[in-house]
Amino acid sequence: MKRYKIALIKGDGIGPEIIDEAVKVLDAVASCCDIDFSYEEALMGGCAYDITGDPLPQETIKISLNSDAVLFGAIGGEKWDNLPREKRPESGLLRFRKELGVYANLRPAVVYDELVNASSLKPEVVEGVDLMVVRELIGGIYFGEPKGRDENRGWNTMVYTREEIVRIAHEAFKIAMTRSKRVCSIDKANVLDVSQLWREVVTEVAKEYPEVELSHMYVDNAAMQLIRDPRQFDVMLTGNIFGDILSDEASMLSGSIGLLPSASVGAKIGVYEPIHGSAPDIAGQGIANPIATIASASMMLRYALGLSEAADKIDGAIKRALKEGYRTKDLAQYDAKEVCSTSEMGSIIANYAAK
Ligand code: NAD
Repeated sequence: MKRYKIALIKGDGIGPEIIDEAVKVLDAVASCCDIDFSYEEALMGGCAYDITGDPLPQETIKISLNSDAVLFGAIGGEKWDNLPREKRPESGLLRFRKELGVYANLRPAVVYDELVNASSLKPEVVEGVDLMVVRELIGGIYFGEPKGRDENRGWNTMVYTREEIVRIAHEAFKIAMTRSKRVCSIDKANVLDVSQLWREVVTEVAKEYPEVELSHMYVDNAAMQLIRDPRQFDVMLTGNIFGDILSDEASMLSGSIGLLPSASVGAKIGVYEPIHGSAPDIAGQGIANPIATIASASMMLRYALGLSEAADKIDGAIKRALKEGYRTKDLAQYDAKEVCSTSEMGSIIANYAAK
């Protein structure tokens, strides 16, 4: 029997509800795949601040580093919005990613056949979309120095070193090897010096992956192409700020924010989490869609633990639940046969995944 230790960070708002459903599904696949998961809970976000005075207690980092992977819900809420910046839940999350050293953010955007009508784009444009944004997460303009402001000027610096570009490029090419073997690297090399280095280094790294087809695209064109013809993309490789924007744009292709998972990897321990926030407006009502978190658990099995068979079972179970017309409230208007609660959706997917 294979044994793994998972750190669970439920967080705030709907975080605990959606993580509970992901655990239900993990336990279901474990029972049929000869796997044993043990879980250790850790605090982060507003709930951590309330108890310890710190949105990221040291204990949470310790628990995470002692596990095989971290499954994360969501953090934040109005209650903590007026705290000083370093005490806010979001600061805890940024610090957490930096401390673990997870430099690559993987965000798949998949349009499920049954939900083509849920997209704001025409079904014929989004049908069959299956792309992955690989975004550099701990460098670029969000972290570059110098930065600052005075009364009349504000400034940030976009810096990438060769080493930072090399490691994120490898991540993108490795993922492309498991998919359709195409990488489109996004930059602004016509204007930015940092992008010229980015393009040069990505092109060098590509030589180590002769089977992968590399193309380059300016970020403004990429924003347009994602809406015009998203099926042209397989892996999109981006820096931090470009990926932040493009991955949100890509997420809308699928129709609901409640469907999309993500993984932050590159370090010894990866963090697997839905792309949405803590949705305080629906917390505690049992109507949150748990699919993004369940799909994040599937990414955790695939990328952190190498359990692709179990991950396939979960992905298949999600598809089957949607195909059979089960919908949480956010998707109720799209061919729902039955509208179910957060916990019912988790149980349906767990049941299918166990087969
Ligand atoms: P949000 O993603 O929490 O919610 C946006 C909208 O989408 C809301 O109407 C919400 O009800 C809906 N929604 C989100 N997840 C859903 C789900 N699983 N099922 C059904 N509907 C869902 O974004 P927001 O409202 O801008 O932010 C709320 C809080 O979350 C803020 O404090 C913000 O800072 C925080 N936040 C946290 C993370 C994170 O933990 N990684 C990410 C983004 C925002």
